[in-house]
Amino acid sequence: MNTAAALFRPIGLPPLPFDQGALAPVISANTLAFHYGKHHKTYVDTLNKLIVGTEFADMPLESIVKTTASHSDHAAIFNNAAQAWNHAFYWKSLRPKGGGEPPAEMKRLMETSFGGVEQCKKELSKAALAQFGSGWAWLVQGGEKLKIVKTPDAMTPLTEGLKPLLTIDVWEHAYYLDYQNRRVDYVNALIEKLANWEFAADNLGKK
Ligand code: MN
Repeated sequence: MNTAAALFRPIGLPPLPFDQGALAPVISANTLAFHYGKHHKTYVDTLNKLIVGTEFADMPLESIVKTTASHSDHAAIFNNAAQAWNHAFYWKSLRPKGGGEPPAEMKRLMETSFGGVEQCKKELSKAALAQFGSGWAWLVQGGEKLKIVKTPDAMTPLTEGLKPLLTIDVWEHAYYLDYQNRRVDYVNALIEKLANWEFAADNLGKK
């Protein structure tokens, strides 16, 4: 072990940006208690156990994700780091009384990229439903255009040179307590009532 590896800056569990009951009835406090308090926390805790004493011990989360992506010898670190990053981004993608009209610049980009806000939402919903098994649906920026992508398991567009703007978690743990197998109802309610388009707009143009 070199001296740099001895430094350990644990990755923190970021606070939820809203009260646990604030997204009900679309996402219940019970779902958030498990999803944030157990699933997200476990990814962070597991990651910290895996990186202590390694070259990743004092690296920011985003750097760990990018450095370990597509290195099969670091698969466990990548999976937990990417899930930690994806979940922190997912919470910010939601807000109580969300949905509605996106900010002007976001709306303009949705029009030039998809033909309109409704078409963009439809594409996002389609990707979320088409993701087979566990994964994520994303609104991303690639160059001048917005795109919709889906990723399996812990995969994230961060490592594909795309800028994430908003995400939907479509792992069953995100919706099963509230919707059982009805992913379509979860996804569409989230887009219409919780999507944080202001957060998505804030991410435009960022590195
Ligand atoms: Mn999740």
